[in-house]
Amino acid sequence: MNIGIDIGGSHIGVGLVGSSGKVINKKEVDITEKDKKNIEKMILNTIINFVKSILKEQDIETRELGYIGIASPGTIENNCIYNVVNLGLEKLDIAKVIKKEFGLEVKIKNDAKCAGIAESMYGRTKAAQDNIYLCLGTGIGGAAFLSNKLVEPRYKSGMEFGHMIIQKDGRQCKCGSKGCFETYCSMKVLKQEIRETLELDENETSANIVNEIRKHINDLRIQPIIDEYVQYLAIGISNLINIFEPEMVCIGGSFVFIGDLIIPKVKKEIQDKKLLFNPRKEIDIVLASLGNDAGIIGAASLL
Ligand SMILES: [Zn+2]
Repeated sequence: MNIGIDIGGSHIGVGLVGSSGKVINKKEVDITEKDKKNIEKMILNTIINFVKSILKEQDIETRELGYIGIASPGTIENNCIYNVVNLGLEKLDIAKVIKKEFGLEVKIKNDAKCAGIAESMYGRTKAAQDNIYLCLGTGIGGAAFLSNKLVEPRYKSGMEFGHMIIQKDGRQCKCGSKGCFETYCSMKVLKQEIRETLELDENETSANIVNEIRKHINDLRIQPIIDEYVQYLAIGISNLINIFEPEMVCIGGSFVFIGDLIIPKVKKEIQDKKLLFNPRKEIDIVLASLGNDAGIIGAASLL
């Protein structure tokens, strides 16, 4: 058994995970705007309290655990988290504090990679030795697996699929470049465009916007937005297929709530425009199956 922790842009989840990837006990909390004023303290206190209460509820002791794994956004170097833009977090020396509190090894890995690992081990891509995991959420993250092994560069995290430039002089990205994949295909961007077009309230919840997209998918006002989204997504996915030649491309993040409507259009676009260097009869683009638990399960399944 390991503890898996998922630090997201808007929530924190902590789970006790068994050897087969089963989440035995889980606690979650949303991060409010107020929490962001003292985000370092909020994250550390939440994690420590959640781990303690899970151990108490399950009646187990820390020595029965393997390690504590953390799935985190931002840049991870030397077991420290840097530059989580969505949380306004510059640096968090999280491993040191958690290790001191529980006396267990702490491992940290990029959140999209953790979700990809979970899908590869226990979820949708279990049968595909070569696969790409693409997380379409607030931003775009991802992971690549070849022969069942996560592709990992030695020095930096890499696999920044979201910052692959797909349009010359395109939209400004917060990374400093222009035309990045995530400025066209993140769910945040899509939801924003839908919200503006349908004149929805700025505070409309994410779930409601997804419902509106589902309801109005064939609406003439929305169609140009969806068409453009599909075109860019087809380019991004084709680039990844041309580089990695995966058996399967698995998409996670909040995209899963509209994926059934979008994926057939993306497949058609890829075929119609002949975007693949090595043409395929069938393009296996699938939706992640572990939902919100993927980060926790992946963080608790690191080697
Ligand atoms: Zn970028």
